[in-house]
Amino acid sequence: TVCTRFAPSPTGYLHVGGARTALFSWLYARKHGGRFILRMEDTDRERSSVESVNAILEGMTWLGLEYDEGPFYQTDRFSRYREIVEQLLASGHAYLCYCTREELEARRAEQIARKEKPRYDGRCRERQSPREGVSPVVRFKNPLEGQVVIRDLVRGTVVFQNSELDDLILARADGTPTYNLTVVVDDMDMGITHVIRGDDHLNNTPRQSNIFYALGKEPPVYGHVPMILGPDRQRLSKRHGAVSVVSYREAGYLPEALLNYLVRLGWSHGDQEVFSVDEMITLFDITDVNQSASIFNPEKLLWLNQQYIKKSEPAHIVHHLSWHLGRLGIDPAEGPDLTAVVQAQQERAKTLVEMAHNSVPFYRDFDGYEETAAKKHLNASVLQPLQELRDLLEKVQSWKASVLHEILLETVEKYGLKLGKLAQPLRVAVMGRPISPPIDVTLELIGRERTLSRIDQALT
Ligand code: GLU
Repeated sequence: TVCTRFAPSPTGYLHVGGARTALFSWLYARKHGGRFILRMEDTDRERSSVESVNAILEGMTWLGLEYDEGPFYQTDRFSRYREIVEQLLASGHAYLCYCTREELEARRAEQIARKEKPRYDGRCRERQSPREGVSPVVRFKNPLEGQVVIRDLVRGTVVFQNSELDDLILARADGTPTYNLTVVVDDMDMGITHVIRGDDHLNNTPRQSNIFYALGKEPPVYGHVPMILGPDRQRLSKRHGAVSVVSYREAGYLPEALLNYLVRLGWSHGDQEVFSVDEMITLFDITDVNQSASIFNPEKLLWLNQQYIKKSEPAHIVHHLSWHLGRLGIDPAEGPDLTAVVQAQQERAKTLVEMAHNSVPFYRDFDGYEETAAKKHLNASVLQPLQELRDLLEKVQSWKASVLHEILLETVEKYGLKLGKLAQPLRVAVMGRPISPPIDVTLELIGRERTLSRIDQALT
């Protein structure tokens, strides 16, 4: 059965490129009824951190990319890597190399001077005896002839000549395993059938394939997805602004919007733009992914987010909005039903941060009006109609938007005003700002008590 994995190195946050690779692997497993594994490639102890592991786990959970097994940690598997190194030494597929750093550097300089591609010359392949005082590394005995043919799901057939590959190090002098070894051992032991990863790893693939062959195994099927670039066509990085998954959560994006955006980076299905996760599982096919790099477009992501806010079930928005309100110190028990507050804003909000910010006055008294709005709308000419409206509102029997609407109309009619001429001052008075859902809905949500006391405040 199909088994895919996401294998991040926990040396930083989960960035959108990693998230896309994870999504593609996850989709592949789900589409084929297979398993999806999460593996932390944390052998670089200097650069790996618990914070990074947690950020990756948080990002995966938020995105809903649930894994069937793991997370596995490579640092738990050192004895297994050692075992495989011993096995490769015993079978003659690896050898001890006693060349010192100085020797390697000198030879490298000579190769460069001769305009040759610098590579290990293989001289320890035939060495018979250890060298005093030198701890050896273990090198892979890469085949000298022939070629490695990769049938890549994205790139098609890619051929590498063995003569171009050198004898890579499998274990360092201190015994620690290298990336190319640990990946192969894990992909083998975990039964990975399809490796979907960034095409920055394409050059490792023939090396890893050769290690598989040396272990008497078939390598998995590979699919190398192109990089994501910034608008300047450089590899997407911090310089381009927000690139971590967590930062999109914090900026008020829905996880489905980000997934939808990521699945469309380098892949399309007719001119359809919006895909539910189920549609992605059915329609997405890794073999249809473009070979060329894709450019990250924040405006399009924002547009998708707005679409998702508009069409999602209110309960779903409530779930995610609550997290943002919590960050603002808002307790939704202190005011109107949050579902109603969401429904009143779904049509217009671009992000959940915006929605959370605009929800605050429903739950907590604001301190101070927005300055320009107050100057523009809370002036002497509206005091009288506002006062009259307040007195009418106090007597309202049923505090419902439709009833409140009638009272507003009554008041503006009496003063010969346009509705907006009263609605905006009222809005600033009760919300502190000139933006909110329709005024009657706003008043209903705020409730009678808060509405009256806020109008009183504005009138003094
Ligand atoms: N740990 C590697 C990385 O973060 C990925 C290795 C792989 O997918 O084979 O780039």
